[in-house]
Amino acid sequence: MTTPMTSSPMTSSRIKIGIPGAAGRMGRMLIREIAAAPDLELVAATDRADAEAIGQDSGLLAGTGTNGVLISGNPDSLADADVVIDFTSPVASIAHAKIASGHNCAMVVGTTGLSGDDETALAAAANSIPLVYCANTSIGVTLLARLVEQVAAQLVEGWDIEILEAHHHHKVDAPSGTALALGEAAARGRGVKLEEVSDMVRQGQTGARKPGDIGFAVLRGGDVTGEHSVIFFGDSERVEISHKATDRAIFARGALRAARFAASARPGFYDMNDVLAG
Ligand code: NAD
Repeated sequence: MTTPMTSSPMTSSRIKIGIPGAAGRMGRMLIREIAAAPDLELVAATDRADAEAIGQDSGLLAGTGTNGVLISGNPDSLADADVVIDFTSPVASIAHAKIASGHNCAMVVGTTGLSGDDETALAAAANSIPLVYCANTSIGVTLLARLVEQVAAQLVEGWDIEILEAHHHHKVDAPSGTALALGEAAARGRGVKLEEVSDMVRQGQTGARKPGDIGFAVLRGGDVTGEHSVIFFGDSERVEISHKATDRAIFARGALRAARFAASARPGFYDMNDVLAG
């Protein structure tokens, strides 16, 4: 990703934020966190044109009390923002990235399940705007990925890597974007490509585990916010590195930190490591 280089510092005015998917779980959480942040101002909230929430007060919907920002079905209203923070769907995030780049708004994308083509489209938008893209905006998970890369580089011969994740029953993609990012970190540590060593599905006569594979296992149920473990199985020993999220607020707070970074960054394609370093 791009080397972070900040341009002139922000003036003392508040950073204007636009939230697509404002009626969604993350959208409402972001609106609550923005209401508590003195340096941020919500200026636009959108959702699908056919969403029930269209026309409702986004603050009321988020549980913070009236804020006067009505949920609009017109994504062009996001153009008023300095930074668009998008936790929606892959198709919607790409459409919003085109609007953001067309109106010179910075962007944070937290949507998961993007294809390689979708990521190429985001990178194209990042030619003209600062764009932070991260499947997990928690600070803890960002650090976890760094640790995994280091450990994977050390524990090579005779060590099997398995990644286990659990999420609530509403989640629509699997393995989670975070599990894949942790897999990428482990593969990077070992100097291999994840797509060449990943083992996503095991059923029936699978044969023995191949040395060097990185396996994935997925649990779905209840209201689990997000749990990830990277397990290194050795001979007579095991190293486990885990992260457990108990409140979605951690993702929203990380996304707001990314928005503050993006508001004063030069155009480029960034991730949470850039945000932590910035
Ligand atoms: P959700 O279904 O509760 O909310 C998504 C919202 O986006 C809905 O209100 C939906 O109507 C809206 N939406 C869909 N298409 C739209 C469009 N074209 N225009 C405007 N709004 C549109 O889902 P959620 O739990 O809030 O998660 C959203 C995304 O964020 C998922 O991809 C999820 O995996 C991801 N996520 C990422 C992180 C992270 O740390 N990066 C954390 C949690 C969730």
